[in-house]
Amino acid sequence: MSAIEIKDLHVNIGDKPIVKGLSLTINQGEVHAIMGPNGTGKSTLSKAIAGHPDYTITSGDVLIDGVSILDKEPDERARAGLFLAFQYPSEIPGVTIANFLRAALQARLGEGEEIDASGYYKQLYAEMDALKIDRKFTSRAVNDGFSGGEKKRCEILQMAMLKPKFALMDETDSGLDIDALRIVSEGVNHLRGPNLGILLITHYQRLLNYIVPDYVHVMYDGRIVKSGDKSLALELEAKGYDWVKKELAAV
Ligand code: ADP
Ligand code: MG
Repeated sequence: MSAIEIKDLHVNIGDKPIVKGLSLTINQGEVHAIMGPNGTGKSTLSKAIAGHPDYTITSGDVLIDGVSILDKEPDERARAGLFLAFQYPSEIPGVTIANFLRAALQARLGEGEEIDASGYYKQLYAEMDALKIDRKFTSRAVNDGFSGGEKKRCEILQMAMLKPKFALMDETDSGLDIDALRIVSEGVNHLRGPNLGILLITHYQRLLNYIVPDYVHVMYDGRIVKSGDKSLALELEAKGYDWVKKELAAV
């Protein structure tokens, strides 16, 4: 079985420590949720793992199937099976969704191999239908002028097409109204299975009513301070993040 292991990870932005010794292992097939207040380093964690150049890993390691990915470029990390769904997806004017996804899939193939165009469109339309994305969107530029909900559905569409082993989903619920939340969650639940490990980052418990995690972790000040099952999310919702702060202060 495949696993992603985050080992005592420390991440700086400039010279400011943000992630301060975080360890977590996700096996393929598992859904882990990280919950935490704003500013606690959740996005920093996911971007550092994906290889964003603004985030400096000062110590610790991230391994996929026992091999460190930290010396790999972001595209190599993607080929190793990693996918990041952004909290704030970028707009890519001039590049259509169809061409973008095709290029991303093509980049995975060996030299001389070509994507089968008819098979590609068949798969693309099937995934778009499942996510209730209008087929007209294939010829629109990636995220260009999309609503918040459309951007998040586009992220899930990328995930559906690229079929990663591990997906880091950073506040996929932010900016979604209740209908879009349901559609996006259905999309994720549809992709959920023995070949996919998911790290679901969220500020609110609400998302976890739709995508029920196997494990819940509370992140505070750059570390995981509490772990449990899905009931921890409900406890957190009821008691608020102050509860965790008070518990920590008491130790
Ligand atoms: P979260 O996703 O949990 O809300 P972030 O990882 O976005 O937290 O941010 C953690 C801390 O890092 C915050 O104090 C934030 O202000 C700071 N930070 C995030 N991005 C940058 C950046 N590009 N430059 C400087 N500081 C940043
Ligand atoms: Mg964030």
